[in-house]
Amino acid sequence: MPKILDGKKLAQEIELILQQAIESGLEVAKRPPGLAVLRVGNDPASGVYVNFKEKACDRIGVRSFAKHLKEDISLEELTETIKSLNQEKNIDGILLQLPLPSHLDEDALLSSIDPDKDADGLHPLNLGRLIKGEKGPRSCTPAGVMSLLERNQIKIEGKRAVVVGRSILVGKPMALMLEAANATVTIAHSRTKDLPSLTREADVLVVAAGKPYLIGKNDVSENCVVIDVGIHRLPPDQENMKELKKTKLCGDVKIFEIEDKVAAYSPVPGGVGPMTVTMLLANTVDRWQKHCGLPLTISHLLP
Ligand code: NAP
Repeated sequence: MPKILDGKKLAQEIELILQQAIESGLEVAKRPPGLAVLRVGNDPASGVYVNFKEKACDRIGVRSFAKHLKEDISLEELTETIKSLNQEKNIDGILLQLPLPSHLDEDALLSSIDPDKDADGLHPLNLGRLIKGEKGPRSCTPAGVMSLLERNQIKIEGKRAVVVGRSILVGKPMALMLEAANATVTIAHSRTKDLPSLTREADVLVVAAGKPYLIGKNDVSENCVVIDVGIHRLPPDQENMKELKKTKLCGDVKIFEIEDKVAAYSPVPGGVGPMTVTMLLANTVDRWQKHCGLPLTISHLLP
């Protein structure tokens, strides 16, 4: 097992497989896969993520239909936009970039996406399929974590997994995917008492709390595989701290404290982030193969 779980490298390998799948299906499908990414308002981080996603589409031959909508768009107007994308024949996947401005009802909007075009696996029907262990589009970040673990030959069955965070976007689907892979899973959250005593018991620790440097060397055991989902830009006054000289991004884990202690870890950047984008592409290509009646050649890449 490699010590550093290199998401950037694995994402490139998977992108190549997806690109080949597109090339070999184009003649029959007569159109490339299409992904609509909806960005609402001017949240700068969302702008960066949407940009990454558009570039990734370009790299592998997915046609991107990005829409940048005004901050004060009404729920009705946005619902209509989603419904028209549901009808659009050239679009196989729809992603609503989160977070949304506070006046918009996230649950209602996610539910208005056609479950068959749900590129982020967050439609209630697809979350239900995940609970039941049925096939369906899976939430991209936890799907990326599963791929990172499996492709690095990290055995999950029978292991004690702890997921820190219980959001619908990451923590909950992550716990369900680990459980489906036969781990014994505990979910921790902001009201969990004595978090370190739990995390120290983990063979696989996935941290998705959105709290910079929450987990350090006293919170992990030596055999642990640590997956850091968090991503934060450090405030300028911390950028010059001795141990952080080379990086402006950090995760929820003090990698500089745990890297010599644990069995393996995912870095930030270059760990879960690139895998999230790649799983979005994989969901879109999988939908495209289904919509165009092609053989489903890449579904094994999805959990
Ligand atoms: P979120 O919706 O804010 O959820 C955070 C979760 O962490 C909540 O369940 C919260 O508990 C829990 N939590 C907060 N503080 C905690 C603490 N001190 N101890 C234990 N649990 C704590 O965040 P999210 O959307 O899941 O994202 C989590 C992180 O992952 C963020 O940094 C985000 O930027 C990052 N992210 C990265 C990617 C990627 O591609 N790399 C993708 C998505 C998200 P309560 O439920 O009790 O409030």
